[in-house]
Amino acid sequence: MSEPSDAEELAGLTTTLKRHLERRQRSGLRYLPKHSASSQKNSNAVRQPSVMTGTQVNMLADDSVALGAGSLAELRAAIGDCQRCKLCSGRTHIVFGVGNPRAKLMFVGEGPGHEEDLKGEPFVGRAGHLLTDIITKGMGLKREDVYICNVVKCRPPENRNPEPDEVAACEPFLKKQIDIVRPQIIVGLGKFAVQTLLNSKVPIGKLRGTWASYHGIKLMPTFHPAYLLRNPADKKLVWEDIKKVIQEMRGENT
Ligand code: URA
Repeated sequence: MSEPSDAEELAGLTTTLKRHLERRQRSGLRYLPKHSASSQKNSNAVRQPSVMTGTQVNMLADDSVALGAGSLAELRAAIGDCQRCKLCSGRTHIVFGVGNPRAKLMFVGEGPGHEEDLKGEPFVGRAGHLLTDIITKGMGLKREDVYICNVVKCRPPENRNPEPDEVAACEPFLKKQIDIVRPQIIVGLGKFAVQTLLNSKVPIGKLRGTWASYHGIKLMPTFHPAYLLRNPADKKLVWEDIKKVIQEMRGENT
């Protein structure tokens, strides 16, 4: 048999690549990662899953596996080395969430920033320090007592707002996180988290401070800590909102 010509070899390679990409697409992987799986090597051993093989990732990319998860660990494993939206190409770590899996109180932010992306943990930058102060100094709790996560799990480039397709790809995982933790109260941090959870376009300035409901869970909308860094005069409004949360947790509103 004669050697294949360059053109034949190229055609063969193209067919193989096309089939590979079609298989990835069928299994829910729509974007090619910028980093290889091994680029997650700096991950926090407790909070990041072990790096999975390509086959495992493909098997777990099916959202029905994620949505059938019975624990946060199962959900995190099912999210895998997520390629479901374009944010995957710029991230260092998936920032899944942190804290008590049975927390009574859950904080939901917008999406990881630079520090969070590097560490794989939500709210660890400047805004995060302010949130930690609210939890510890304001509420007398520890960060480990509450559960903290974001609407999107990967950092949007230049900290821009997440785009609708990115939220659509990630929102099922936030909903599942809430479903698993089943907190008594959710504090929605900022316009983006609150409007996403309430499926509303009402400005955060109008929503904040008034109890809302997320599928039967009490939701307190308040300003985002990053907003407070820029507008420290509004800290007193957040403190008003947090006092309502403290009263509710103590059962003083019944
Ligand atoms: N801002 C957010 O909304 N989330 C974080 O994790 C950090 C900053």
